[in-house]
Amino acid sequence: MPRTVLLNPGPVNVTDRVRQALMLPDLCHREKEFSDLMATIRTQLLQAFDIEENYTSVLVSGSGTAALEMAVSSSLSPGRSMLVIENGVYGERIGKICDVYQLNRRTLTLGWGEPPRIEDIEKELQQNPDIEVVALVHHETTTGLLNPLKEVGELARRYGKVFLVDCISSIAGDKVDFKSIDIAVGTANKCVQGFPGVSFVLFQKKELPRLRKIPERTLYFNLTGYHKAQEAGGMLFTPAIPAHYALNVALEELIEETVAGRIQRYAAAATFLRNGFKDMGLEFLIPEGWRSNCLTGLYLPKGMSYEKLHSELKANGFVIYAGQGNLSNNIFRIANMGDITQEEFQHFLKVLATVC
Ligand SMILES: *Cc1c(COP(=O)(O)O)cnc(C)c1O
Repeated sequence: MPRTVLLNPGPVNVTDRVRQALMLPDLCHREKEFSDLMATIRTQLLQAFDIEENYTSVLVSGSGTAALEMAVSSSLSPGRSMLVIENGVYGERIGKICDVYQLNRRTLTLGWGEPPRIEDIEKELQQNPDIEVVALVHHETTTGLLNPLKEVGELARRYGKVFLVDCISSIAGDKVDFKSIDIAVGTANKCVQGFPGVSFVLFQKKELPRLRKIPERTLYFNLTGYHKAQEAGGMLFTPAIPAHYALNVALEELIEETVAGRIQRYAAAATFLRNGFKDMGLEFLIPEGWRSNCLTGLYLPKGMSYEKLHSELKANGFVIYAGQGNLSNNIFRIANMGDITQEEFQHFLKVLATVC
């Protein structure tokens, strides 16, 4: 029987090598074996993205939101504000995390899929000197929009602000300009091609003195607490051990393929799929030039419900993804993250054409 092909934005299809890494002997995370593994993963992350010189890394067990909550809750100094740019579910999630921790925030609210204008962000920064951190979602997975990371980062730098980016669904799939970022958040189970259970924060080492002065607001998700423990080879809490072993192998594979190579592979897959969608007469949610390499938002064909489309594709071995919120009745999403072959993409287009 052919495998199920996951066209949802994570968890993704992984290679057999990554899957085999889950077959572990019994292990205690307080032993040297795990401590060495963690040190290796933290270094691999920096090596893969070529940021060893200026960045450091922190691993946290949990899905991407765990690392996001860690970064957001640990990066704002008392009395200052975070500017949150919201144009989808994940930007709104950053805003929610601010609210849960009772952090001051300014919000630039846009329509879902609407890119922010640099002038509008600049106006916020001019009018609100209390802003210390600017937060952006790089690839807004809600729609497939790639937000202008570099431009926003350069603006934040010009105004002396800290730039925090949710790169969870873009890291290793789209080009991330680490030079203009101060704090980046990622996860194992999207374009990095590992299993869910471990996520990470990558941040510029020069941020450490400022971060260390911020009072601890959470026991489990304190960024500098984890960093200190991990630098000393320890873990504060029991980690998701199997997910770490799989991440280690996934990063070996990423380093072998190279990040540039993977981005190219995903871009080629997206182009191939999009040409097929165009030929079928499907309509795109996001205009060309603004789309990520990793996910395509499409309007549902007339007269077709998402449920019907999903179940017919699933019966043929393909899992697609629904729209969220107001978009749930209008769109569907096709991700091309993970270890998927060209034959599988070809077969998918054939099946989709038949179903539509
Ligand atoms: C997947 C994703 C997250 C995290 O979602 P989890 O369910 O915690 O994995 C956060 N931000 C973006 C942009 C995402 O795509």
